[in-house]
Parts: sequence; structure tokens; C-alpha cells
Amino acid sequence: MIRQLDPTTIGLIAAGEVIERPVSVLKELVENALDAGARRIAVDVRRGGLDLIDVSDDGAGIAASELALAFARHATSKLVAATDLERVVTLGFRGEGLASIAAVAHVRLTSRTPGAEFGFTVMAHKLAVSTPEPVAAPGGTRVRVESLFENVPARRAYLRSATAEYGRIATFLATLALAYPRVAFSLAHDGRPAFAFAPGDALDQRLAHVFGVAARALTELEAMAGEAATVRGFVSRPGSDRGDRRLQLLFVNDRLVRSNAFAGAWSAGYATYALAHRHPFGVLFVDVPSDRVDPNVHPTKAEVRLRDPEATNGLVRRAIARTLGRDANERMRDALSFSPALPAVPVVESTTAATAPPLRLVGAEEAVVAEPAPEFVEAPRALRVLAQLDATFVLATDGRALVLVDQHAAHERVAYEAIAARARLGGAPTEPLLVPYTIELEPRDAERFAATLDALAAAGCEVEPFGERCFRVLATPAGYGARAFDLRGYVADLGDEVPGLGARERIWASLACHSVTRAGEALEAGEMEALLARLVTCENPMHCPHGRPTIVRVEADAIARMFKR
Ligand code: ADP
Ligand code: MG
Repeated sequence: MIRQLDPTTIGLIAAGEVIERPVSVLKELVENALDAGARRIAVDVRRGGLDLIDVSDDGAGIAASELALAFARHATSKLVAATDLERVVTLGFRGEGLASIAAVAHVRLTSRTPGAEFGFTVMAHKLAVSTPEPVAAPGGTRVRVESLFENVPARRAYLRSATAEYGRIATFLATLALAYPRVAFSLAHDGRPAFAFAPGDALDQRLAHVFGVAARALTELEAMAGEAATVRGFVSRPGSDRGDRRLQLLFVNDRLVRSNAFAGAWSAGYATYALAHRHPFGVLFVDVPSDRVDPNVHPTKAEVRLRDPEATNGLVRRAIARTLGRDANERMRDALSFSPALPAVPVVESTTAATAPPLRLVGAEEAVVAEPAPEFVEAPRALRVLAQLDATFVLATDGRALVLVDQHAAHERVAYEAIAARARLGGAPTEPLLVPYTIELEPRDAERFAATLDALAAAGCEVEPFGERCFRVLATPAGYGARAFDLRGYVADLGDEVPGLGARERIWASLACHSVTRAGEALEAGEMEALLARLVTCENPMHCPHGRPTIVRVEADAIARMFKR
């Protein structure tokens, strides 16, 4: 038998979609406060929000005559006509927040509008709202929510501990605060203050709270504006990535959204900076015209649909890539600082880049990569190569720090950029082998390898099929001369995913990896100097194409501490 449900049950069902757990209540209340133009939002929570969630603001308030209506379902001051749904500029717009909270808890709402002499207060529970009573109250609105889910035992049972629910509340509020720096936010739990963010433009305090010590790894994104969107934010520097994507925070028009929409853009932006299976983190603020985004896709408004996701994605990727490029160059300059006044260090005589011996390591002459910047050649070179360590690391100093360079990672970076630059310019010069050689591969590998032949050719490595599972290497990229391309190592790498790298870039990265100096190879002083000189001119000098660091700097201070000075 089909029966029409009673209004209380309907309310309960609808509330279930909006109010999943204590943090959902907080979200609705704080969004209302922000929509009301609050400059100060204070939150007090007891027992993870199960006993009490109390949110007060200094916003526009609600007139006494509208208090009952505020609790009615689908009653809102934020939309007038259906067409307003096409350009939502407020966080709320469905008129479901207060009604849903009252359906599953006891609510007291007290509010005073700016002109009013005193405030009014009401109690709301299920479908009932009490008659407004006058009370003394500060300007703004205060909502106290008690006994959450008292009438929904199933929900209560499904909640985690009070501590876990409080954790969600604290994280949500601190995170949301990132998008509203001019608003003061405070949170207390069980009577103890958790945080108080002062209003202002700087986000430091809030970033430190949300990201913890990892906030130190954040660098400000170079803001970018396109037709479809603008993007700002903070992203982690390469090398301080995480095992998951949880801290890739995204705001679209100041709405915190849960979205993988830009996961690809993050990875692509990091490209050769990122290590496999590691993820950068940070916070992106994407602003799009209100008619180009639809927030009406999810009951808790935690998702949005963009009209132009491709263009926005591209913008995010470019902003990240450009910022990291700038950052890497700054750090490289730091790492290799050229200070004219150098303490005399009795070490291997340093040669300037101009007089350095021709570079055997990489095809220096025909390489398309930029020549060392003029100031590099002319400035007194403070970085001196001291020695090679364990046939693996180049040891150098600028007089202030010990600089360690991973010779393989550094050379890989140099070779990768040279190969990619040449390949993108329409084919790299090749060096025919006097005696072509053939290799035979396992069937699985042969298939994978065959699929990369075009990209290899673009990079100057000519290989042709030579019967089943056999290949003949005819030419290798010019400039690698004596160094035989380690084809087997290359093939072994083909199975690995490198996130963010396109198929061709991955092939070139692997080609670079297997064409250059390995760890365990003795280098002469001139070769080491040339390697460092080349590294400086790279776009991303600090990391190899697979994301491993190329340079580590140990400051004299740190060394002094080791000696307890
Ligand atoms: P919505 O936010 O989608 O409009 P709500 O049920 O959350 O729906 O709120 C209903 C209405 O009550 C809002 O449109 C707004 O006019 C008013 N309101 C709720 N909270 C506040 C507040 N903190 N300050 C001022 N007005 C509020
Ligand atoms: Mg609301």
C-alpha cells in the first residue's frame, strides 16, 4: 500500500542528506554567518558537537518577524527566482540548513538586527518554532544546537568518538578560514580554546594550523588569470610531498569543495618535480564568474560543476608549473650563490665556465638548452668543486655551505632538458653507430618497447624492429658519444608510472636516465664543473626528471652544531 509520508518523517529524510554528522551542522551555521557578512565568528563545541554546537556571529541578523520562516524548509533570503540558481553568489541557497538541523536537534536561535533595540530568541525542534521573545543580545546571530541526533539513534550509532567528530570540526573550520582572511574565527572545545584567528590579509597563522609543520614547505602560487577563471593559492615545494591527496585543498568561489577535479592539474603542474606515488599539497583558490559554475549538484554543496573544466584545469596546471619553475631557480641561485668575496680554500683549482674543457658529458655544442647566463660566466665563481665522493656525489662549496650534488640525478636533469628541448624543436640530431647492435627482448617488453620507438626517434635515438622480439639500434642522441645507451635499463623502466609526465616525456626521462653518468663513475674536476655549470641553466635544476633531489646543501651553521660550537 502506498502512503503519503507525514511531514515530520519527510523532514527527517531530507535532513539526513544535509546533516550527516556534527561537522555538517557547523558547516551550515558558519556558511550562514559568512553569508550574513559576519566579520567575527565564534564557535563553541561540547563533546565533539554531540552535546552542543554554538555559533555566534556579528552579521546582519534576522528580523523578529522572519525568525519562524528561517526554519521553514525551502525558505531563503538568498534566491528570488529560478534564474538566480544560475548565478549563485552565496554559500547557502536552498533554504534547507536550519530546517534540517531543527529536524534532528534542539535549536535555540537568538538574533538582533542592526537597528533593533533588542534581540529576539526562538526555540526550534522538528517542525515547531516557538514564538519569538525579546532578549538582550549583541548585534548578529547566535545559534545553539543541542542533543544532536537524539531522535535518530541510527545516526548516533554510526558516528565515531567525540574526539574524532571534534577533529573533523576543527579541521573544517580552520580550513574554511583560509578563504576568509578578513574574518576572525575562533573555536573552543569543552571550554578550552583551540584557536583564534585574527582578521588580516596574511594567511600564515591559518596555513600553519591547517598544514602543521608542512606549511613551511608551501610557496605562494603566482596568481594567474584566464578567461574562464583566476587561480591563487599556496603549493608545496618539490620534495615535500605526501603519500595521499588529502591536503590538496580546493576552494571554488570561496566554497570549500571536495573534488578531484584538479588532481590531474596538480600532477601535471609538478610533472618532473614529483616522485612517483607522492603527491604535492596546498590550497587553491579558483574564482570563476558565478554563471560558469553550478553549486547545485550535491545536498551538502560539497561539489560544484564547472562550465569550463578544461580551461580551468589548464590554468591551474600552468600556474603551478610556473611557480615551481620560479622557485627552483631561486633556490638554485641560493644553492650556488656567487659571492665575490671568498675565503681562500685550498682545494682543486676552480676554472670558470668560460674556460671549462669541452663538455664530454652532454652534447654541449649542439645542445639547444641555454648557454650559462652571462653573470655566471663573468662573476667570480664562488662555488668550488672540491672532490668526488664515493664516485657518486660531487662535493663543492661556496664558502658558506657544503654543497652535495648527486652526479647521476644532476646529469639526468641536464640530459632530460636537452633531449626534450631538441625533440620539441622537431627532432634531435642523432649520432649513427658505426656498428649497429641488436637486442632481443621478452615478448611483454618487446611490445612496450615497440610502442616507444617514435618518441625515441624524436629524441634522437633510432631503433628499428629486427625480426620478432628483436630490435636494432642504429643511432643514439648526438653528444652522448662513447656512452652506450643502456637499452635494457630503459626497457625495465617502461613499466613504471611517473605521474604527471606525458608518455613522451616519460620516454625522454628514461632515455636521459640511461644515457648519462651513473653513480659509481669517476669524474674529472673539469667534468664536475661542467656538470654544475649545465645544471644551473636548467629550468628545474633542483630535481631529476623523476623527482629526486639533485642538490643538497649543508650550511656551515649546521656543521658548527655537529661540532657543538
Ligand atoms: P539558506 O542558507 O540556504 O538560505 P538556511 O536554512 O541555512 O538556508 O537559512 C535560512 C535563512 O535564514 C537564510 O536565507 C537567512 O536569511 C537566514 N539566516 C540563517 N542564519 C543566519 C545568520 N547567521 N545571520 C543572518 N541570517 C541568517
Ligand atoms: Mg544556510
